Amino acid sequence: MNGTIAEPEERRDEASMPPRDNQLNFDFDFIVIGSGFGGSVSAHRLAEKGYRVAVMEMGRRWTPDNLPHTSWSIRRWIWRPNLGLRGFFNLRFFKHATIFHGCAVGGGSITYASTLLAPPEKVWESGSWTGLADWKTEMPRHYGTASRMLGVMENRILGPADRLLKQAADDAGFGHTFYCTNVGIFQPAEGQPGNQTFPDPFFGGEGPARTTCMGCGGCMMGCRYGAKNTLDLGYLYLAEKHGAQVFPETRVVNVKPLGGMGDGGAGYEVSTIKSTAFIRRQPRRFTCRAVVFSASSLGTMELLFKLKEKGSLPAISGQLGQHVRTNSESLIGARTPGYSQDLSQGVAIGCGVYIDEHTHIEAVRYPSGSDAMGFLTTILTNGRPGPRRIGLWLKNVFVSLLRHPFKTVRVLQPVGWAREFVCLLCMQALDGEIEMRWQRPWFWPFRKFLVSRGKKVPTYIPKANEFAQKYAQLTGGYPMSMLPEILFDVPGTAHCIGGCVIADSSTHGVVDSRHRVFHYKNMYICDGSVVAANLGVNPSLTITALAERAMSFIPPAMEKEWNDAA
Ligand SMILES: Cc1cc2nc3c(=O)[nH]c(=O)nc-3n(C[C@H](O)[C@H](O)[C@H](O)COP(=O)(O)OP(=O)(O)OC[C@H]3O[C@@H](n4cnc5c(N)ncnc54)[C@H](O)[C@@H]3O)c2cc1C
Ligand code: SF4
Repeated sequence: MNGTIAEPEERRDEASMPPRDNQLNFDFDFIVIGSGFGGSVSAHRLAEKGYRVAVMEMGRRWTPDNLPHTSWSIRRWIWRPNLGLRGFFNLRFFKHATIFHGCAVGGGSITYASTLLAPPEKVWESGSWTGLADWKTEMPRHYGTASRMLGVMENRILGPADRLLKQAADDAGFGHTFYCTNVGIFQPAEGQPGNQTFPDPFFGGEGPARTTCMGCGGCMMGCRYGAKNTLDLGYLYLAEKHGAQVFPETRVVNVKPLGGMGDGGAGYEVSTIKSTAFIRRQPRRFTCRAVVFSASSLGTMELLFKLKEKGSLPAISGQLGQHVRTNSESLIGARTPGYSQDLSQGVAIGCGVYIDEHTHIEAVRYPSGSDAMGFLTTILTNGRPGPRRIGLWLKNVFVSLLRHPFKTVRVLQPVGWAREFVCLLCMQALDGEIEMRWQRPWFWPFRKFLVSRGKKVPTYIPKANEFAQKYAQLTGGYPMSMLPEILFDVPGTAHCIGGCVIADSSTHGVVDSRHRVFHYKNMYICDGSVVAANLGVNPSLTITALAERAMSFIPPAMEKEWNDAA
């Protein structure tokens, strides 16, 4: 055992540790921080190559038995452990965006809508990764592996909301751009009913039994039927099978080089606390030869800023926090009180259309009964952000109340929202980026936080609003906007990427093209933070493919020399 670290009672929970390797003196070869897309790929590929792997995950482990039935079960939906909320869905509020992200064993895959799209090839020609590899030749292979491992197939379960999207697109003249999304969902064969259980359909019998999708629309509340291909049923399941140890509810608070070697050449000490405990936080320390940061774009930025500032990893590039992108998103929608069909039926994101070369819209839904988000939607309001738009919104609500008092109240209150509302997620492939800094905000000078800086991301996309109006006309409903977008001019996004981007040197980014952190040895980042361009599509497939590529450069355990550096 490594004698350089804390007292035995503080650092080891013997029951959960692997057998010690006296020769190597490290608790693990690799510690992976975070179990989302990048983390699960890393854990699986490293364990498969014979490394002793630990995965530290801040969130809880979820099963069909403990997932919430609806979004009213706030305690099991939202992640705010200090307030007693221990769910899997987190919201972070910044000046430039409200960022939604997952927090669970399996990372964002527990709450994500399972849309898995490859971006257009042109993304490899913009941003700081341009020219650092032959991306266009290399990436198709890794997208192929990622798609197979995530069980990607074209969505066959179209609900009423999807058919309405097609009709609205036809009416607007771009019906030909309608597509069914590629999703990571185990769907029944054509003409077969859902909810049928089969032995592992994806990994040649190595994976768990799975049940086919019923099209309940509940993907973003966590699939309670085992039909969504979440990471805990795929990559992470296989990683554990190969010996990786997952430590749930374990938050990494420090990573520092061991043995006086500032560059990590002698390994690292990783300190953790129990993330769901308020008082007894059970501090523990582990040693390892190599670290993979996979805590998501926000999570990795936040952790690295803290570690840079407290002197644990002072040489992290000053580019940390630069080139953060949000996919230029806007959320709009349509609500039709008393509509004859249940608009929550289908998969969470079943289809999409392109309304112009740069802009596409996907139809998104929550499952019946999950109405809590209804508090955030309001009557659609056009116009440039600012006080005038707020005034216009108040006028719209007032006029609507005068004209149709009953209908207006029905549309503004949340009960029935999920059955009656279709969210239209508008994404633009136009580049725009912000910066994250580690600062004391003026309203709370007692500690530092991530604070966003830069040009505002647009919350008003006129063409998207026009489309929402067309969509609402089809059902006789109301076009809707998100309230925070109108009141605070802050868009919501589930697709935060960048902040530790791939680049040629630490002058332009944080990792090299093999995801090795500049100035450190055996330290990698594999998550959304490395993405160096606006993808214009949902990012999880790209994060998975990039992690597959990064792991392909790491040799089998027997051949590793432990001096891997950018
Ligand atoms: C509601 C919703 C719907 C979405 N739908 C889609 C979709 O349909 N398609 C798509 O492509 N993307 C979707 N996304 C986005 C997708 O979830 C993310 O892009 C993806 O999960 C990012 O992968 P990642 O590997 O970067 O990190 P994540 O998957 O976010 O995983 C990071 C993990 O690290 C953990 N962590 C953070 N800090 C620490 C720490 N200090 N110690 C230990 N653990 C830590 C977190 O708890 C988290 O579990 C959606 C997101 C949300 C919120
Ligand atoms: S639609 Fe329902 S059954 Fe199908 S994957 Fe989503 S949550 Fe699971």
